[in-house]
Amino acid sequence: MALRVGVVGGGQLARMMVPAAVELGLDIRVLAEGPDMSAAIAATAEGDYHDADTVLSFAREVDVVTFDHEHVPQDVLRALEDAGVAVRPGPQALAVAQDKIEMRRRLSELGVPVPDWAAVHDAAELGRFLAGHGGRAVVKTPRGGYDGKGVRVVTDAADVEDWFSAVAEAAGEQALLVEELVPFTRELAQSVARRPSGEVVAWPLVETVQRDGVCAEVVAPAPDSAGRLADAAEDLAVRIAEELGVTGVLAVELFQTPDERILVNELAMRPHNTGHWTIDGATTSQFEQHLRAVLDLPLGATGTHRRAAVMINVLGGPADGDLAARYPAALADHPEAKFHFYGKAPRPGRKIGHVTVIGDDVDDVAYRARAAAAHFDD
Ligand code: ADP
Repeated sequence: MALRVGVVGGGQLARMMVPAAVELGLDIRVLAEGPDMSAAIAATAEGDYHDADTVLSFAREVDVVTFDHEHVPQDVLRALEDAGVAVRPGPQALAVAQDKIEMRRRLSELGVPVPDWAAVHDAAELGRFLAGHGGRAVVKTPRGGYDGKGVRVVTDAADVEDWFSAVAEAAGEQALLVEELVPFTRELAQSVARRPSGEVVAWPLVETVQRDGVCAEVVAPAPDSAGRLADAAEDLAVRIAEELGVTGVLAVELFQTPDERILVNELAMRPHNTGHWTIDGATTSQFEQHLRAVLDLPLGATGTHRRAAVMINVLGGPADGDLAARYPAALADHPEAKFHFYGKAPRPGRKIGHVTVIGDDVDDVAYRARAAAAHFDD
């Protein structure tokens, strides 16, 4: 039996699939962008994922191709499919995660609740949207954004003049996404996994805290969410996975509104930062589940080991760049914490690792997780 998974993209998500693959006895290979990538701990080919021939020759060595990110161009994805490669998630599903305007369009068609939005092509169109929404809105570049890069709160069309110029030069639809500034009470995320033959499972709904557009903390399960809220989020994510034909992990980022509704912000069709807690906190981690799902193997249980798990991202790391110097004290002070580092050099704002603590009292767990991660602050 050969179960060979090829992961395009060599970041920390690919890296964290490696131990899960090792435990299941799978053969995992990575197509990395360069020699210093996080996932270079696995068998690694180097190459440019924009180049169809490069990705095709990588794909010939494996049974299924999946991804560490959603940036592989559609023409490359289609070339893989045309060559008979199992691509999971497939190009049609990925198209929805690759472009925020396409995402809003498809979700609106499906009747999924999203913030009020429009595709705007110039300052006049943006001006009209602002006038209709109290003079403030959120503008997003449709492609290539992450960690809040490509998201701006604006009060004037001139605030995104540079972005209008940039999209005018890009291929495809020359528009920006504008949406209402949602007065959310908190942000939530719901992850599910779906295999090609149809089985879908969901992990508990989590609460996420963003700082400067970057995920800083995740609390699982989301406090005060049992019942109606958790059920609604799970139903929504399962429905999106099924309607879009997603295979693998799907993470749905949500806003909870003051009147207790949930709106979909973003979709990610791969393991996601808001699911890292599952490595230490759930029977089946999102990384193991993603591998099972893309190989169309039966999915694992998603229950939690304890009542609460809190994950804190290590952002930036020590200013002197010496991560190792922080290990002795951090590990000594927090034997209960699980530390995960991605083999990335410290740099301001960069996600270089995360820390998870599990337990039965969420406040205690959060306190310990924050204290453990703080050992790596500068
Ligand atoms: P990225 O793809 O860079 O992660 P997102 O679209 O997820 O960008 O936005 C990043 C963060 O910006 C969100 O987590 C949220 O805190 C804030 N944000 C995004 N869209 C809105 C909105 N319509 N209203 C209010 N806040 C928003």
